[in-house]
Amino acid sequence: RPMSRTSLNDVVDRVLSLIQYQINRNNVEINVELDPDLPKVLANEHQLDQVLINFLLNARDALENSTGNKKIIISTQIRKSDQTTYAIASVADNGEGIPQENITKIFNPFFTTKAATRGTGLGLSVSLGIAEAHGGTIEVENNPEGGSKFSLVIPVNTENF
Ligand code: ADP
Ligand code: MG
Repeated sequence: RPMSRTSLNDVVDRVLSLIQYQINRNNVEINVELDPDLPKVLANEHQLDQVLINFLLNARDALENSTGNKKIIISTQIRKSDQTTYAIASVADNGEGIPQENITKIFNPFFTTKAATRGTGLGLSVSLGIAEAHGGTIEVENNPEGGSKFSLVIPVNTENF
């Protein structure tokens, strides 16, 4: 598969230009907070686009029945641990959040809490497969103030460059 040096900031820009309209149509405010110094990763950029699209459409769905100010924050950041540097792209929403009993199930293929006409339950399972094929992972957390946050975490392997 075609791998190239790519920035998660460019992934975010591309994906927003594709689906910003769909999200704004639902009266959702989108804030974008990109780290200008984010290191590039070696990736199949179309696959990373797909992950961010899945996150954003899930965030939109999670906000559907919300009555307050609907908000999505898309951000990128760098994480340095002992051995490895990671580039991270996150999508946070202030929607319904994930019940604790579902947290371990949401990455299972075909697990969905949506009507059969709305969700296949494949988005997060496919997304996790893509992240792992890049040596990375997906992290999920519920915000204490409500809503949830999904992060695509990809290692920066400078020796590949
Ligand atoms: P689908 O969107 O087709 O249901 P996914 O694999 O994308 O399948 O997501 C699986 C389930 O994870 C969703 O049905 C939902 O219950 C939960 N989920 C995913 N993203 C969010 C989110 N941002 N907020 C709340 N729940 C979420
Ligand atoms: Mg989905």
